[in-house]
Amino acid sequence: MEREGKYRILVVDDNVDNVELLRARLESRGYEVEGANGGEEALAMLKVNPPDLMLLDWMMPKVDGMEVVRRLKADKSLPFIPVIMQTALDSTEHKVEGLDAGADDYITKPINFPELDARVKSLLRIKKLQEDLSNRERELEEMNERLHRISQTDALTGIPNRRSLEEKLDEMWAHSQRLHEPLSVVMCDIDKFKSVNDTYGHQVGDIVLKDFANLLKDAVREIDRIGRYGGEEFLLLLPGTPLESAVTFADRVREIAKEHTFSFEGGTLSRTMSCGVAAWPHPDIRDQDALLKAADDALYVAKETGRNKVVRYDSPEFRSHIEGEKASNGDKSSNQAAHRADDGVKGSEAIGKP
Ligand code: GH3
Ligand code: MG
Ligand code: MG
Repeated sequence: MEREGKYRILVVDDNVDNVELLRARLESRGYEVEGANGGEEALAMLKVNPPDLMLLDWMMPKVDGMEVVRRLKADKSLPFIPVIMQTALDSTEHKVEGLDAGADDYITKPINFPELDARVKSLLRIKKLQEDLSNRERELEEMNERLHRISQTDALTGIPNRRSLEEKLDEMWAHSQRLHEPLSVVMCDIDKFKSVNDTYGHQVGDIVLKDFANLLKDAVREIDRIGRYGGEEFLLLLPGTPLESAVTFADRVREIAKEHTFSFEGGTLSRTMSCGVAAWPHPDIRDQDALLKAADDALYVAKETGRNKVVRYDSPEFRSHIEGEKASNGDKSSNQAAHRADDGVKGSEAIGKP
């Protein structure tokens, strides 16, 4: 990636003549040069408009070069600015001290200009590499954020997907355990949705799903989470909400859905939905999976007992249905997973079917 504009070099020296000498030399080499007549002025200028490189005199009254380097390198808000220390003290001890303080290179006075040119060039090369690297890092971070967002979002409806819901539920579960606050979940499933596809086509089915997602999104509070759990199944996570309130809320949402008219090119239709509600605390519910399963079991009962309704886990209706089923099925285990699979067969009736 090519860099735009000239490199800017800040020359810091308490001797104005030295500043001007270096300015002339560096400008003739194509650099933009700014001068500072002391450490304090240099530090102020760094903040306002950080240069690409600093040529820094060591021996200055008040704030000396060493102090400037220390403060520059300690300031995390500043970008990487390579520093060449210029000093009359040609002793190994001083060079080591300067480099230890954070200077990147040094040059001794009187300055040999070809040597200065070479050192400036080499440090600017490093500066450029460093810039490219941080640009790449930023791009990577943005890419990662985008990927994360995509991995958490349902592509059709734009609301959180199952993975996101499960992660959020883990968080909410931990939170509710810690503070002993209730946590409710509502599993919702559109009634006879297959017939929308069968009658109007898959594209209309998609439109209905998107509208449904928006209806639910608009219905929940800021702290709630709503997402698409599966095909035409939506999950609501309601933190701090006890079972009874969740049932009332689910019923309101069910009513909103029932009253809504879905429009598409060539017609309108309406649909109902069924919901299963479960909440912690409950003696059967020991973890978040059990909470989800309880809501799903309740949804199953809502489907089996007529649809367009909200069923609460462990309610008298729930219990009597499950017990009745056990009695009639003998040892046939829970129909749990079956309710989605075989409803398509039964669900040939369609509201608004031509
Ligand atoms: P029930 O009242 O028992 O829930 O009946 P149902 O027809 O809603 O349930 P079933 O599970 O039989 O059918 C669900 C349908 O949802 C079948 C599937 O093709 C459809 N579906 C799932 N995902 C999508 C999608 O992304 N777009 C569309 N258009 N249809 C979808
Ligand atoms: Mg359905
Ligand atoms: Mg379903």
